[in-house]
Amino acid sequence: MDAHDQAPIDDAIERAIGEIGAELSSAFPSSARHPLRAIDQRAMDLASADRELKAALFRFVDVTPACRSLDDLARHLREFLREVPDAPPPLAVAMRMADNKAGRRAVGAAAAAGVRHMAHRFIVGETPASALGVLHELWNHGVATSVDLLGEATVTQAEADRYAGRCDEALADLARVEAGWPARDVLERDTSGPIPRTNVSVKISALTPLLRPDAPERGRRDAAERLRPLLRRARELEAHIHIDMESLDSREAVLDLVLELLSEEEFSRGPSAGLVLQAYLRDSPEQLDRVLEWARSSGRTPPLTVRLVKGAYWDHELVQASQHGWPTPVFDVKAECDRNFERLTRGLLDARPAVRVAVASHNLRSVAHAIAYNRSRGGADSDLELQVLRGLGDQLQDALASRGFRVRTYCPIGDLVAGMAYLVRRLLENTSNESFLAAQAQGASLE
Ligand SMILES: Cc1cc2nc3c(=O)[nH]c(=O)nc-3n(C[C@H](O)[C@H](O)[C@H](O)COP(=O)(O)OP(=O)(O)OC[C@H]3O[C@@H](n4cnc5c(N)ncnc54)[C@H](O)[C@@H]3O)c2cc1C
Repeated sequence: MDAHDQAPIDDAIERAIGEIGAELSSAFPSSARHPLRAIDQRAMDLASADRELKAALFRFVDVTPACRSLDDLARHLREFLREVPDAPPPLAVAMRMADNKAGRRAVGAAAAAGVRHMAHRFIVGETPASALGVLHELWNHGVATSVDLLGEATVTQAEADRYAGRCDEALADLARVEAGWPARDVLERDTSGPIPRTNVSVKISALTPLLRPDAPERGRRDAAERLRPLLRRARELEAHIHIDMESLDSREAVLDLVLELLSEEEFSRGPSAGLVLQAYLRDSPEQLDRVLEWARSSGRTPPLTVRLVKGAYWDHELVQASQHGWPTPVFDVKAECDRNFERLTRGLLDARPAVRVAVASHNLRSVAHAIAYNRSRGGADSDLELQVLRGLGDQLQDALASRGFRVRTYCPIGDLVAGMAYLVRRLLENTSNESFLAAQAQGASLE
């Protein structure tokens, strides 16, 4: 059955969604300990309420790693805030303090500490070696991980080589250490067979400087030269490689590249690999059909893992389309995006065992829907993976793990400079008025 022509879900599933949602949320700690509260919720609230302030704060976060001194940092903060017509009182005080050198040092130190604090919520360590403690602790709590080596949008061949080298090293280091961890059945097996412990997420834009929408073939060929050795290495180490999806202008190239390489004879029996489907794109149902057709006809084992997300580049896609006078490729009503996410979830779950399904969301409704629909089809909980982002999905992660679900947490690793694009995307998402987590943090009822 196509993802497009499914019947609406029936009352029994709706009831089950309510029950599962209530059960999971009962395991959440009080809203006072909500993850966004800890990440300076006050700044988030202010930014959500004021567009100019949001723009100024994000430009500031972006420039932080490049600042040479606290003085420099405070000057930038003051300059950015000058463009905000009515700066809220705490920021107006900071601006006044930044008028003299001593004040600037104090403001700079406070601002730098704030940005670092935010970044460390989302980034588990600067190197795979320094992140191992956190990864091990998560495993001991019944949580699998996928490691993402920060550093996007490579501009030179040398940078692309370096990124590929870091991925290769991470695969080897993680596989060696993770082999010694205790067995965890829930995390390591489903009906299709063993699930690798070592899981690395890779960005194609970091594997080549040549990824351009007007010449997709060049970028694809260049990235293939670096992705092939990584696939070989993952197969040798019995690890999983997941290819992240980025903005729409690279989507076709990424999808073509992944499906092409995984179709090659040498990869027909591994490694375990996956790609991402973005539900905010209006044409995602057609993309799902394409991926499923490939999965069914390739007969590749282990099955392709499809991670379903809503999409992290929503603001970017809107701006890009409006600048070029193109029709918006993304849904502009949040409920439509959510509805599409549920439709794609059902399409994916119905397509098993041709694919493995990973539903990646912090939205309790989206997650409860996936669990309820899977159960209604007679599926085992172990045949559905649920994924969250480090620092944002911690509560949900714990609630899911404590109830025996397979949950995987996406763990970025890298320094603050490389992590800036990632950090800004997370902040953008969580100051959006449409965000589930932001609404939860502001005390909206989970029901
Ligand atoms: C493990 C993991 C891996 C991820 N990997 C990727 C990846 O490879 N590529 C990628 O793009 N994203 C990725 N994401 C991010 C993901 O796409 C979402 O941005 C994020 O999870 C927020 O969605 P939500 O369901 O958790 O929350 P919700 O609050 O339910 O949804 C927020 C999302 O809804 C969409 N949205 C917001 N406003 C509107 C609107 N007005 N109209 C229509 N839609 C709107 C946006 O996509 C926004 O991110 C990943 C997320 C996780 C958890």
